[in-house]
Amino acid sequence: MNNFEEYCTQFVQTIGNKEGPVSPVITSSASFAYGDADTAEGIFSGSVKKPLYSRMGNPTTAKLENVMAEMDGGIGAVATSSGMSAVTLATMSLLSMGDEIISIGGLFGGTYSLFSETLTRFGIKTHFFDVDELEAIENTINENTKIIFCESVGNPNMRLPDIKKIANIANKYGVVLIVDNTITPLSLKPLELGADIVVYSTTKIISGNTSALGGCTVFRAINENDDKFKTQKYKDVHKFINKMGKMALIANAKKRALRDFGMSASAHASYQTMLGLETLTLRMDRIVKSVEIVAKELSKAGIKVNHPSLASSEQNSKYKKLFSKGCGTLLTIDMGTKEDAFRFLNNSKIATLTANIGDNRTLALHMASTIYSDFNEEQKKFLGITEGLIRISIGLENPQDIIDDFIKAAA
Ligand SMILES: *Cc1c(COP(=O)(O)O)cnc(C)c1O
Repeated sequence: MNNFEEYCTQFVQTIGNKEGPVSPVITSSASFAYGDADTAEGIFSGSVKKPLYSRMGNPTTAKLENVMAEMDGGIGAVATSSGMSAVTLATMSLLSMGDEIISIGGLFGGTYSLFSETLTRFGIKTHFFDVDELEAIENTINENTKIIFCESVGNPNMRLPDIKKIANIANKYGVVLIVDNTITPLSLKPLELGADIVVYSTTKIISGNTSALGGCTVFRAINENDDKFKTQKYKDVHKFINKMGKMALIANAKKRALRDFGMSASAHASYQTMLGLETLTLRMDRIVKSVEIVAKELSKAGIKVNHPSLASSEQNSKYKKLFSKGCGTLLTIDMGTKEDAFRFLNNSKIATLTANIGDNRTLALHMASTIYSDFNEEQKKFLGITEGLIRISIGLENPQDIIDDFIKAAA
């Protein structure tokens, strides 16, 4: 049985049309004609549900948003031009000058740079923590803490957060929890674990074929009675709650991020992303199984492998308890030195050397000389970047072929 059987029917049935073109229609138009002045007025006030302008929403993109929202049990979703814009949308649609973020886990480079450099220029401060520093995290929360941000799997340090525990802390103090679930779609459902917002780079495993850059942010409904978004801390969202009720977070994100920042998804990218989504269940299922096999065999062959499924990993008990459907496509190997890492990469015939992850093909990259080359020693230490570290994203190839190739490359 496929690990993700519950989604197999939903994806193909909702992405395909039952009448007319079976494949989703690409509405390739930036603007939309309203027909008459009354309809135009209605569209702008929200009483007429028709497209306004593609920066604010597009029918092809709306279809992708609906599938993504359903996948995560959210009330709605907003697709964006990239994964980084999904992170920016989720955070900047809520933050004001003087606010603070608590960021948990080994962070994606772009997100780390957004929090540690760009947002500080706007008076927004971020405190960074390892996944297990729960007490320190709790002690750092103050009246300015507006967002707790966490990645579902540390990339590339492979450390695993207990999202339920983190969500309990966020809820106890009335702080919003955003989870970047890029690496573990289907495997992990952050909204069910208590998160409020989920962000994705759909560029990765959701597309799988590296044909389109994209992102998506999934939101939960606002509760009718008690809701932390109704507290004074999130007062900028209140006017959307008054007007849109449970859909308020979608309206807030669209106004603040799509209308004002313009990070909207293109219809063509949304279409390509849906082609990937149709087969996500099958690819995820195969890859999370392959990753475990490859990790085990490379480790047996004496290569220093980091993957939570290995008994040697200090994350192994968390993996078994919290990640029963795998933790995505990544593993890392440490070749000790930069020279040995380069030799491995240049010898491998299977690995495609690229900064991407979650592809149909197996990908690999030396971390210190590429993505993290402009990070200082202290930052690299925090993020777990050693001199010989290679990040590998396992693809759809026969796992035995990957193992044979890597063992030869490492020799
Ligand atoms: C790739 C990635 C992003 C950024 O996505 P882009 O589509 O490249 O902008 C954000 N978070 C994680 C975990 C990623 O892997």
